[in-house]
Amino acid sequence: MAFAMDPALLPIERKVEEGIPLSIEDGLTLFRTPDIHNLGRMARAAKERKSGKKVFYVLNRYINSTNVCYAGCKFCSFAVDEFKEQDRVVRMPADVVMTKALETGLNFNQIHIVGGHDPRQLSLDYWLPLMRRFKERLPHVQLSLFTAAEIEYMCKRHRMSFADMIAMLKEAGLDNVNGGGAEIFAEETRKKICPGKVNSENWLAIHEELHRQGVASNATMLYGHIESLEDRLDHLVRLRESQRRSPGFNAFIPLAFHPDGNELNDCGWTTGLDDIRMFAVARLMLDNFDHIKAYWMIQGLKVCQVALHFGADDMDGTHGSTDEEMIYHSAGTQSGQYVDDREFRRLIEQAGYEPVRRNSTYDEFPHDWSPPSPEMVPA
Ligand code: SF4
Repeated sequence: MAFAMDPALLPIERKVEEGIPLSIEDGLTLFRTPDIHNLGRMARAAKERKSGKKVFYVLNRYINSTNVCYAGCKFCSFAVDEFKEQDRVVRMPADVVMTKALETGLNFNQIHIVGGHDPRQLSLDYWLPLMRRFKERLPHVQLSLFTAAEIEYMCKRHRMSFADMIAMLKEAGLDNVNGGGAEIFAEETRKKICPGKVNSENWLAIHEELHRQGVASNATMLYGHIESLEDRLDHLVRLRESQRRSPGFNAFIPLAFHPDGNELNDCGWTTGLDDIRMFAVARLMLDNFDHIKAYWMIQGLKVCQVALHFGADDMDGTHGSTDEEMIYHSAGTQSGQYVDDREFRRLIEQAGYEPVRRNSTYDEFPHDWSPPSPEMVPA
């Protein structure tokens, strides 16, 4: 017996097919429909119009270089006050970060680093020389560094404009800025969960300036805490408008809230259905974003594999082979630290898609692509 389609989805499907951006009302219908199968079918069709049968992954090295931070976000389980919790402080000297990047070998395409607003590490004195060293030793590896929150912190610290700061970071080798720090743009909710970090206006202004200067970026949204469905849709519409004003976002990454060890732990965990519905709605609302990423570290490999049938076309990266990810591991994720690229290919192929190795800016590589030989890389 065939299931009848929820009639409320029909006009939305027509709008999607005609290329008409969806409204907040449309988004609410998508979030509330009991017809999860047709929601998935619509999102999958939208994904396949963008990227066909391709699903992307990256061989990368992920590092949280410092967990010292005083921004006080209520959902954060990662930040440490160095004076009260000395035994939990992780603050890597630049040489340690460099050694970790080099011990990854040569066969990877991205270094992904984010950290806290650490007064002793988040400065140009630390980062510019380190970025130049990365580029000298690993010229084929793209630098996906910072979030807009970290860039704003450095601007305040060095009393620099966003444009001047971004020009300096770009000159030192910045290829891509990570999508974190967006959380939820709706001001009333944002004030309750992260009053001490970059505001929505500046988050968007920094990304738009990055794009004007030719630096790519991603965008995120933290969902599953105290936000409303209207907040989520407002967030997606603000991103869509920002992309129209100053294109340059590659991927949108829905981040499911994790409750362990933070002040919002009463909110609990998202469910599998919350997660796949979120991927599908994002795919349908963000008609001018090329990629929706199902980040295995957040929702887990199994949900992320299913998300490939709900609009996602990217599973993020291998992350290196050690214990660097602290943000979600502090908050209770059950995901491991490392996924072999063969596992990505197995999961993607089993879902009926073609695995494609990429870098931060979505240049495509054969899965067995070889980087320059060690002799070609300056010592
Ligand atoms: S989320 Fe980021 S900015 Fe906020 S407290 Fe945690 S480390 Fe600091």
